[in-house]
Amino acid sequence: MKIICIGRNYSEHAKELNNPLPAEPVFFMKPESAQLRNNLPFFYPEFSKDIHYEVELVLHVNKVGRNIQEKFAHTYFDGIGVGIDFTARDLQQKAKEKGLPWEMAKAFDFSAPVSSFLPLDLFANLNNISFGLFKNGELVQNGNSKDMIFSFNTIIAYVSRFVTLKQGDYIFTGTPAGVGPVKIGDKLEAFIENEKLLLCNIR
Ligand code: MG
Repeated sequence: MKIICIGRNYSEHAKELNNPLPAEPVFFMKPESAQLRNNLPFFYPEFSKDIHYEVELVLHVNKVGRNIQEKFAHTYFDGIGVGIDFTARDLQQKAKEKGLPWEMAKAFDFSAPVSSFLPLDLFANLNNISFGLFKNGELVQNGNSKDMIFSFNTIIAYVSRFVTLKQGDYIFTGTPAGVGPVKIGDKLEAFIENEKLLLCNIR
């Protein structure tokens, strides 16, 4: 499996990092080894001094597809969870300045904690899902899928022009404003609507 991540999909977050709003989805990938499941702790890596959390809604891909038409895209995922796109912001900033790839900053081991997935029929409207993140009990990010620049279906259609989707892949759909650093000892809790679905302790 692979993890596809969308960057700059919420305008307030693009602004906070001084990035222009994209005309087309920006995506990058994390490998299977980036997965962190079952609320296991995240161990702060030695290569960064500025690991940031980014809470995101995550789609669970349920079948193979390429060149998917947007009108059929909704049939290619069967669950929505919440995840954290951990980012080594210091390494990412250096890579951006030099025009280099982001893998060191984004694709490192255990950089993608993900909750269990909720079936789609639990949601009245996929374009109105609230989600967010508490750090040490304080609300630090609060988003809603209605504010995405590119919808779930647009993302699936776009990405599948370049990369075949496979059953079991995850798609991280972008983070709202409020990203920030973590330190050892922090406790992150991510939620969808009123339900805390993901716990991640920083060790
Ligand atoms: Mg992200």
